[in-house]
Amino acid sequence: MHIPEYSYPLYRPPSEAKSLIFQITEGCSYNKCTFCGMYVDKKFRIKPFEEFKYEVDGIPEYTKKHIKRIFLADGDAVIYPSEGLLKILDYLQEKFPNLESIRSYAGPQALLEKSFYDWRAIFSRKLDMLYFGLESGNNEVLKIMNKGMDADEVKEKIRGLQKIGFDFSVMVILGAGGVKYTSNHAVDSARWISEVNPKYLSLLTLFLRRGKNYFQYIDTPRFRHLIDEAAEFIENIRGEGIIFRSNHVSNLFSLKGTLDRDKDRLLEYLSNVRSHCAGKGILESYPDFYQENI
Ligand code: SF4
Repeated sequence: MHIPEYSYPLYRPPSEAKSLIFQITEGCSYNKCTFCGMYVDKKFRIKPFEEFKYEVDGIPEYTKKHIKRIFLADGDAVIYPSEGLLKILDYLQEKFPNLESIRSYAGPQALLEKSFYDWRAIFSRKLDMLYFGLESGNNEVLKIMNKGMDADEVKEKIRGLQKIGFDFSVMVILGAGGVKYTSNHAVDSARWISEVNPKYLSLLTLFLRRGKNYFQYIDTPRFRHLIDEAAEFIENIRGEGIIFRSNHVSNLFSLKGTLDRDKDRLLEYLSNVRSHCAGKGILESYPDFYQENI
């Protein structure tokens, strides 16, 4: 018996805590976002099928029977060339008899590059949910982030993939537009989310692990900007049944609910946070992790 040998750092969404992870790629094929330090020290690599197969084969049969969910890592594992990815998915079906769902992060390049024909074949092999870092629905902000995508182009592709049956968990990053673009970022991201209506939505807070001068031309947001931006974002979402979470380690306040149903409660909570912090100097202060960017 041998277990998968991971190359670290290894990231997965919090909701994949119970999934078995196979790293079919290592690092991020793009690795150029100005804010992201997840894979800066990791050279991108596509794992050959034989190496992946060796890891699967090393798992005892009785363990395989209990696996229901698999997460494919690293950063955008679905960038794996389609033919090889289908072979991997076929092998997973063959070896894990009770497998219900396979998930992965998906970068914009992989989403756009693969044809709908390929995505249909992928979906039919139980890869049915993708985690996508939109970060912002505003193209100016995306340029600052060097995300390498156009928000509308990706939106259309994702809507096509939803018609195939894919579920999406979308991440938006609070503070990504600094002070200058705070409102444009909130409103355009809310519009994008409303039009896509993903199953899950996470609101994280920008946490700079790479570009320390990120806020140079757009001003570093203070605590009050982040509260107001979260409120403007939630206020403008028109989607229905979106499971919303803002309780990542990067978040300064914790929010969870279902949009639109819990919108008023979430806005009231943010308003209470604002009132509670008023007059204590907190609203005008910077989050600790922005201190070196002021
Ligand atoms: S944000 Fe995603 S696409 Fe950008 S460098 Fe980080 S892992 Fe890669």
